[in-house]
Amino acid sequence: MWGSVVFMMNEVMIGRAKKLVDDGDVEYVNTNGNTLNFQGKGHNVSKGEVYIITAEIQQNNEMAWSCSCHHAQFNDECKHMLACSMIIDNKELRTEYKIIVGDDDVVGSVELTIKSDDD
Ligand SMILES: [Zn+2]
Repeated sequence: MWGSVVFMMNEVMIGRAKKLVDDGDVEYVNTNGNTLNFQGKGHNVSKGEVYIITAEIQQNNEMAWSCSCHHAQFNDECKHMLACSMIIDNKELRTEYKIIVGDDDVVGSVELTIKSDDD
């Protein structure tokens, strides 16, 4: 595999990704810890298939993408990942790494600890 994960920013790919977003063929599902979950619908030969796209936020705030589509099994990127990155921008989803402390209930007390720590 290639060392760097850089989206192939050609116009064809961007056009296809934009269409996926415009048509609602990829959608944001939820964020589980530091993993953003998306799903996409297949077309043509893969009609009826559902793709699972995930973006895992790394500790350096970089995203590790994966997609279950055929194309992504042989490439570092696919139009679904690109489309999802557009959704992240549109919806302003969290892309910063967060230290997960158990379940969500604990987050409140962590924030309190940070607030009281003013020096
Ligand atoms: Zn894909």
